[in-house]
Amino acid sequence: MDHFPVFMAVAGRRIVLSGGGEAALAKLRLILKTTAHVTVIAAQAAPEIHRWAAEGRLHLISRGMEPGDAMCAVLFYAANEDDVEDARVAALAHRDGARVNIVDNLADSQFITPAIVDRDPVVVAIGTEGAAPVLARRIKRDLEERLPAQLGVLARIGKTFRAAADVLPMGVKRRDFWSAFYDKIGPQAIEKGGESAVVPALEALLDETLATTEKLGHVDLVGAGPGDPELLTLKARKALDVADVVIYDRLVSGEILELARREAVMIDAGKEGFGAAMAQEDIDALIVQHALNGAHVVRLKSGDPTVFGRLDEEIDALDAAGISWRIVPGITAASAAVAGIGQSLTKRGRNGSVRFLTGHDTKGFADHDWKALARPGEVAAIYMGKRAARFIQGRLLMHGANPMTPVTVIENASRPDARVLATTLAQLEPTLTKAGLNGPALTFLGLAPRDAVAARNDMNIEEFA
Ligand code: SAH
Repeated sequence: MDHFPVFMAVAGRRIVLSGGGEAALAKLRLILKTTAHVTVIAAQAAPEIHRWAAEGRLHLISRGMEPGDAMCAVLFYAANEDDVEDARVAALAHRDGARVNIVDNLADSQFITPAIVDRDPVVVAIGTEGAAPVLARRIKRDLEERLPAQLGVLARIGKTFRAAADVLPMGVKRRDFWSAFYDKIGPQAIEKGGESAVVPALEALLDETLATTEKLGHVDLVGAGPGDPELLTLKARKALDVADVVIYDRLVSGEILELARREAVMIDAGKEGFGAAMAQEDIDALIVQHALNGAHVVRLKSGDPTVFGRLDEEIDALDAAGISWRIVPGITAASAAVAGIGQSLTKRGRNGSVRFLTGHDTKGFADHDWKALARPGEVAAIYMGKRAARFIQGRLLMHGANPMTPVTVIENASRPDARVLATTLAQLEPTLTKAGLNGPALTFLGLAPRDAVAARNDMNIEEFA
């Protein structure tokens, strides 16, 4: 691109043109569409130019161009159809500080004027950098046919209605509203009742759109993090601020529930891992029902909703009911738990991958690739692993894991009552039995608390090795 297309502010500024013949007329027809102050300098001017001058649409100076004539002009056109005269006036205008265009002289012009399709305020500019004027004309003709003549009127009225339409939720709803206006409702209104019918048509369309919007609610599937309210994301916080209904799992801490909008209806879905108090189908139905009533529902899940959260079942139910939803991620228990013991989930030279396992699945104790997990250096975060501890321990040892492999159990990670049990694979099951945990706990295979964290002793670390 040797020429960069821009739209220049010319309202109230000067545009000066030197010349009074055909080339001058062609350019003036374009320039007079603007709200600039137009001056024409021509010893001899065509009758149209005299008429425009008489109508006050331009200022005509009936003589040859002199120094200072283009003073303060933003644009200057040399349109004398005479190379010598054009070069002379261009040099003068240049000295006056104007950007210069010499008609039909690309090389000596500082700017060129594109072909335009005018549906003011919608303007399409077409340029070929002088390479193919025929092509530019053809594209212009195609666009002229394609863009309805009232597009400009619609755009102007649409602009005044923008603020009113902002009551629609951003995204599909709002885009659909405007598409319906430009494609159908707007042109129909003009055809039937002229310009004055457009605003009432817009108002009716908005009412109709709002009515259908209000019928369907929206569901935010939000991660509440591991418990510490400061580990909530800002997005989650904002969702809670506007919720009409909050449906939460048992693991979501009370401090976080406190943050929900005062008027919000709070519903305990009672779920804790796989120990579901309410059947999953009932939870799905509950979310759908509130959304269908038009509520903004926050489905609040502990940690990250995409980790062992049965999220997909809820999403399927929402999709089936045609309800809009989005996922707001959260900090998963594994992230909070390793932070508590001062370790990384991955470490160069130790483990290039980390697994998130569930101790339980719908069929009971969950099976995994025990052989791979038994290799030295493996790190795995085991969710819902308390009851499956003996099973997991047995499987790993059977597949050749070192009994001295460090294992750390972190209960209530990120909460004031956090407990850390530092043990080994061999001691895992007796450790858990002895400790008698009753909060949510995560078991790390292959990680011990970092010495420095243990020494600081600001956490309740219990050694069981
Ligand atoms: N979506 C959640 C996990 C839900 S499964 C997340 O991303 O964290 C529930 C299991 O998560 C619990 O049985 C426990 O293993 C783990 N968990 C959740 N919160 C925890 C916490 N604060 N401390 C330790 N483990 C936690």
